[in-house]
Amino acid sequence: MSLRPSPIPPVPAETARVTRQAFPKGHPYLTLAATFGTLFTDELFLPLFPTRGQPALAPWRLALVTLLQFAEGLSDRQAAEAVRASLLWKYCLRLELTDPGFDASVLSEFRTRLVEAGAEQLLFETLLERFREQQLLKARGRQRTDSTHVQAAVRELNRLEAVGEAFRHTLDVLAEVAPDWLRAHAEPAWGVRYARPLTEWRLPQTAAAREALAVQIGADGFALLTALHDPAAPAWLGGLPAVETLRQLWLQQYTRLARPESEDDDGAPPMLVRWRTGAELPPAPQRLISPYDPEARAAKKRETRWLGYKVHYTESCDADRPRLITDVRTRSAGEVDSDALPQIHAALAARELLPGEHLVDAGYIDAGALHASREQYGVELLGPAPVDTGWQAQAGAGFGAAAFVLHWDQQWAQCPAGKRSAVWGTKQQRGQEVLQISFAREDCQRCGHREQCTRTAGRGRRLTLRPQSEYQALAAARDRQQTPEYRARYAPRAGIEGTHAQAERRCGARRSRYVGAAKTQLQYLLTAAALNLLRVADWLREQPRARTRMNAWARYCTAGA
Ligand code: SF4
Repeated sequence: MSLRPSPIPPVPAETARVTRQAFPKGHPYLTLAATFGTLFTDELFLPLFPTRGQPALAPWRLALVTLLQFAEGLSDRQAAEAVRASLLWKYCLRLELTDPGFDASVLSEFRTRLVEAGAEQLLFETLLERFREQQLLKARGRQRTDSTHVQAAVRELNRLEAVGEAFRHTLDVLAEVAPDWLRAHAEPAWGVRYARPLTEWRLPQTAAAREALAVQIGADGFALLTALHDPAAPAWLGGLPAVETLRQLWLQQYTRLARPESEDDDGAPPMLVRWRTGAELPPAPQRLISPYDPEARAAKKRETRWLGYKVHYTESCDADRPRLITDVRTRSAGEVDSDALPQIHAALAARELLPGEHLVDAGYIDAGALHASREQYGVELLGPAPVDTGWQAQAGAGFGAAAFVLHWDQQWAQCPAGKRSAVWGTKQQRGQEVLQISFAREDCQRCGHREQCTRTAGRGRRLTLRPQSEYQALAAARDRQQTPEYRARYAPRAGIEGTHAQAERRCGARRSRYVGAAKTQLQYLLTAAALNLLRVADWLREQPRARTRMNAWARYCTAGA
């Protein structure tokens, strides 16, 4: 498909006349069309198309259809039907009333084109630019970020089902792309063993029988992998995604045992394979759990368990402008929130949309993040600062780190008993540089405050602290959050829960529509772009923002208070 950009036509006269008559009080889509025109142009999509081939459908229309589709939570088929049947869609797309639309498959092809060109952000960022031109969005205002869970578009499998399905899936792929090679290398027993999905079997009931089946599947997998990576096999077979997934899963789930020395090659025993125990498996953030979406991970947050991803939304929350999503980040479900923060700030900086004040919850905040946000990006990070977890601070009566006076320039510390530190130095701890301060053993052993300070016999008190700039940023954040002024500034953070709810209700965002991290990221960017459109339409039409709902009992209590 090639692209030959053509001028965007006006709304056909009959389409415009009928639509205005049908919507005398206006409609959000008509407001958007009047304010922004068509939002996209064909030129924007030129890098995505080859210069030769059959002419493609106008991508500005496909982009707009995609956003309307997400705004209304429709499937591809329903969206294609809406192009044919909806007056409003025809108006936005500048189509004649009699236009038959297009086949639903072009929407999937359009999304694939975006992902393959690495242009997932194109629609989302183009809209942000248009909103900024209209002064609906500004840099250095207030923004907030929160994450929520996303269920992958695959079913949950137990360990036995996962290895069985991974092997079966690889056979499926090989049967499709290399049937002759497979015919020469497949073992006859595989035809029976893997004829049906393991999820349809009644799996063995006893632990021993389940283990025996897992070992059999493991041996089959190793035999196939050995054949696939044999120098005589076509090299491209080893690079197939299904083969790579099988290889990684087998590394995680199995070990191959060395053949006993007494066995010689002539009387070769069957392949020795051991199914790893649960304790030997890699940690959850690295563990493959489905061959059909190798990037999905299992995770748990409080009472919620899920299999898939985590999406981080960042949105503006200035009182004088609409709430608009400024960044969307889809990450592995097992990743901690604070890992996403540097990427969020880097993306906002690239869009020239960094906030002045960034409201986040405790998961995003640590000493390093507080310091780096301010120094690198000029962003003040607001959120619950991590507490001192030492027993002294937790007890409330002991000498936590805050009880010591630190003389950074002279590199010594004074303890609450007035003693001077004996050692001031740095060391590496979990890949980070930390400051370690020690007091003399003789001072601490004679000290009358020892009970409140250290429980370690045989040596003086030790403090392990972050470097000066990070330590001071954390101490300032802890002090700041005690004030009523901080609580008032931080209060708008909770409003982002409404964005999760809106994305879920309007766009069905709790579950990924597609398989894989790249397409899931595209889905959430399109969801955010669609929500932004709806919010801007409401703002332009001066629709009051929905208030937080309160149940009857809460209203009653509030009224009686
Ligand atoms: S135990 Fe050591 S560090 Fe702690 S207050 Fe006493 S002298 Fe100071």
